[in-house]
Amino acid sequence: MLIQTLRETPADAEIDSHKLLVRAGLVRKVAGGLYSYMPLGMRSLKKIQQIVREEMDRAGAQEIVMPILQPAELWKTTGRWDAMGPNMFKLRDRSEREAALGPTAEEEVTDFIKGIVSSYRQLPVTVYQIQWKFRDETRPRFGLMRSKEFLMKDAYSFDVDADAADKSYWNMYHAYERIYERCGLKAVPVQADGGDMGDSLTHEFHVLADAGEDGIAWCPKCGYAANLEAAEKRFEPCAAEPCTEPLAEAPTPAKTIEDMVKFFGVGPEKMAKTLVYLADGKPVMFCVRGDRELNEVKAKRLVCAKTFALADFSTVREVTGAPIGYAGPVKPKIDVPIYADLELEGASGMLTGANLDGEIDYKNVDFARDCKIAKYADITIAQAGDKCAHCDGTLEIKRGIEVGQVFKLGTKYSKAFNAVYKNDALEEKVMIMGCYGVGVSRTLQAIIEQSHDKDGIVWPASVAPFQVVIDLLDPQEAEVAQVASDLEAALEAAGIDTLVDDREERPGVKFKDADLIGFPVRVVVGAKGLKSGGVEIKRRDEDKTKTRIVAPEAALDAIRQALGQSKS
Ligand code: ATP
Ligand code: MG
Repeated sequence: MLIQTLRETPADAEIDSHKLLVRAGLVRKVAGGLYSYMPLGMRSLKKIQQIVREEMDRAGAQEIVMPILQPAELWKTTGRWDAMGPNMFKLRDRSEREAALGPTAEEEVTDFIKGIVSSYRQLPVTVYQIQWKFRDETRPRFGLMRSKEFLMKDAYSFDVDADAADKSYWNMYHAYERIYERCGLKAVPVQADGGDMGDSLTHEFHVLADAGEDGIAWCPKCGYAANLEAAEKRFEPCAAEPCTEPLAEAPTPAKTIEDMVKFFGVGPEKMAKTLVYLADGKPVMFCVRGDRELNEVKAKRLVCAKTFALADFSTVREVTGAPIGYAGPVKPKIDVPIYADLELEGASGMLTGANLDGEIDYKNVDFARDCKIAKYADITIAQAGDKCAHCDGTLEIKRGIEVGQVFKLGTKYSKAFNAVYKNDALEEKVMIMGCYGVGVSRTLQAIIEQSHDKDGIVWPASVAPFQVVIDLLDPQEAEVAQVASDLEAALEAAGIDTLVDDREERPGVKFKDADLIGFPVRVVVGAKGLKSGGVEIKRRDEDKTKTRIVAPEAALDAIRQALGQSKS
């Protein structure tokens, strides 16, 4: 068997699960963001796929498969050919026909269903595929977590109306709960940002781990959980009295909030920072308290922008008339819309940039008196210690790995494709859609991130490359080898997949590899052991001292029992 375990940590691996994936010989790097699956990795990947497939089938979804190579026309129908930007791999065939390597498949599946479904009698329908996806990620990293090519299960539901679509959504949501549970994974559903679809209902499933790239706001009191991109918090009305002092210039060399805190000797909550963005090419300003960060997702949503990015230096100068670091909400040079966070409504006695040519701030800023604010809205990122918007609890912030997402799409795609059905009055109606993704390859690695120790991976039995490893210590001794091969046959007959390590290696090497790869149960068969009582059985998730010696005839039962008790 092609197994290659490594003692050294790969240089580019930053997080434990990435190191272990490579060290245990599950995958091999081809180039940045591209991996080959070695036989061990492939076995686990297939087991996860199988769990996903069984739960999709159980939920009534039907498996299909659509081409990875997707014609540009599909994407142009919804305008996403351009909107996807550099994230999508685009190419041309020999006849100059444009196509993309599918990063997802809403367009393709809508076109597919439109060609098949025409009557309400054919609905509801949910289809799914387990297919490779391609995304030219800005920063491919962390191994399979964020790769350029990855395996995704994507499902799409089509319904006659909003109620039916709601049923489909929750049906998938519950299937996801079962999928992760069967993978031995603790994944929590969190509310997420509806993206283009505005307030559309969507949940992401996250594996909580320090290595996660997403921030999750969590209320331990009521259980509210949301991606920081979307997390709400409770706003206390600003208690400040209107300012009696007039607005005044305060020259300062300090550009950043930290420098201002030192220079003025007041807290960041008495300062406001102002950021200039280009929303669909037009400058807008956002103003948040000095101790807050702007939430770009909320800000973008607030101004209903398609493209949204921090303005370049020259635009900032043009808009504010001031050097970088001195933008403020009081009379910018060019009259642009200024949005301020809810916490600044009624704020007074604040320090802000002055939009003046020089290193000057304003003090005594009273937002109601001195600033022309287009709108006060929640545009900041929730922080630990903020009050929960749903109860009187206090928010905590956790890190999460997004392993899946369920999403109500409404009619965005079906309208664009005119995917309609005839109701019983023979009227044409637009289908209501939902989409549901599981990052299959990311899930593989998330399992490792959640389940490992200093010696290696600790696989849940359901997704381990093999459930049992037999470390055969004296392969050259025929009698000992016979015991191992009889046991292997008995285990396989019982449906327990087993790997026999019959390499001519020292026991220490075999034990180290068994721990590194993380087989749920290890059985040691050796001459010495057999003479003194039998074979040795040990669970990977148990203390090393908890080995059990059983006679070879009793091994099958003991292993069954050990597997049943081991993780998941
Ligand atoms: P992310 O926010 O992490 O970039 P996403 O929200 O863009 O992911 P979706 O479009 O929701 O991703 O795709 C469904 C699932 O596919 C995700 O929940 C995630 O598990 C997985 N996935 C997305 N991008 C990648 C990637 N580059 N590498 C591996 N898995 C990925
Ligand atoms: Mg997602």
